[in-house]
Amino acid sequence: MDFENKTCGVCNKAKLHRFQEQIAPGVYVDAYKCSNGHISYTREVMQKIEAFNKVVALERHAIKVGSSIAIPIPAQIVKAMGIKAKEKVYVTTKDNTIIIRPSPT
Ligand SMILES: [Zn+2]
Repeated sequence: MDFENKTCGVCNKAKLHRFQEQIAPGVYVDAYKCSNGHISYTREVMQKIEAFNKVVALERHAIKVGSSIAIPIPAQIVKAMGIKAKEKVYVTTKDNTIIIRPSPT
């Protein structure tokens, strides 16, 4: 399966072009990007990414906190990122992924 020069399935306008996307430090997969920045993967690559995430990502269970959901951040990530309890962080989403950014110091 090859998406090269196929029309982007998100915007249905721009053509897709292959590039190497880094999904983790030193780990690259074939991905396709349109000129509007939408990223697509073939089914095979999508399955590889899911398998990789199952092995590498640390599984956590969401906890209900009022009307919100809290996700415990693994200790090694807390340590690596230097996050402290009660510190302000910024939560957003991109490409079906939740991004948590510590506040700039
Ligand atoms: Zn697009």
